Amino acid sequence: MIFDTHCHLFQYDHADDTRAQLLTRPIDVTVVTESPAEFAQILPWIGDTQNLHPAIGMIPQDINRLAPERDRLLETLPKTQYVGEIGIDYVTQDQTERRLQERVFESILASCAEAGNKIITIHSRRASQAVIDRIGKKFPGVAILHWFSGSVAEIEAACSEIYFSINPAMVRSRSQKKLIAAMNPDRILLETDGPYVLQGKLPAQPQDLHHVIHYFARLWDIPPSEAEAKIESNYRCAAAKISLPLSN
Ligand SMILES: [Zn+2]
Repeated sequence: MIFDTHCHLFQYDHADDTRAQLLTRPIDVTVVTESPAEFAQILPWIGDTQNLHPAIGMIPQDINRLAPERDRLLETLPKTQYVGEIGIDYVTQDQTERRLQERVFESILASCAEAGNKIITIHSRRASQAVIDRIGKKFPGVAILHWFSGSVAEIEAACSEIYFSINPAMVRSRSQKKLIAAMNPDRILLETDGPYVLQGKLPAQPQDLHHVIHYFARLWDIPPSEAEAKIESNYRCAAAKISLPLSN
């Protein structure tokens, strides 16, 4: 079983076809959303499928538009253990916008901590330290840094319980590979971040995660089947911490 912890499945051009294909494969997908409105939209689209899981999110890049929906997100949290995409993005130079992103992220994180049973996929572009500081050392739940692009020093100083999800674009990048080498193998998970990450000329699909698994097989000097089993067991351990029911 491959666990894709961060895929914008609803945003693919042929989302219905992609969804239908996934239902027949041994792949478990966290379907992230960018707003509470998108979450509400995908609930009936996903239905009660076993291997696709809607996550409630609020992407930081759109915080000026989305912030008024924060209470709706907090009220919806009890409906799902999956949260994302949330986080902080410091590409904006606007200090007011940055502070708003931080406050919204802090309040979602606090509600997730109070619930104690959430798995959260987190955006941290140019804001890795700000995000790591807010997750803290004893976060009650599972925190996954998606597409981490900070520094080796930040990885080393971060709480050892934080997970990192790795996508096909990351294993093609020399600077990202240096970061991946500094990550604890027990904390490695997978993500496509499709359709935003490409594999060849097409949006990455969860089945393309084999490329990432082969990369880890070379890095860890083990057969691909063992690398796949290792990463699967990482996810199962994380899920067990919060009693997340999993498909077999
Ligand atoms: Zn994403």
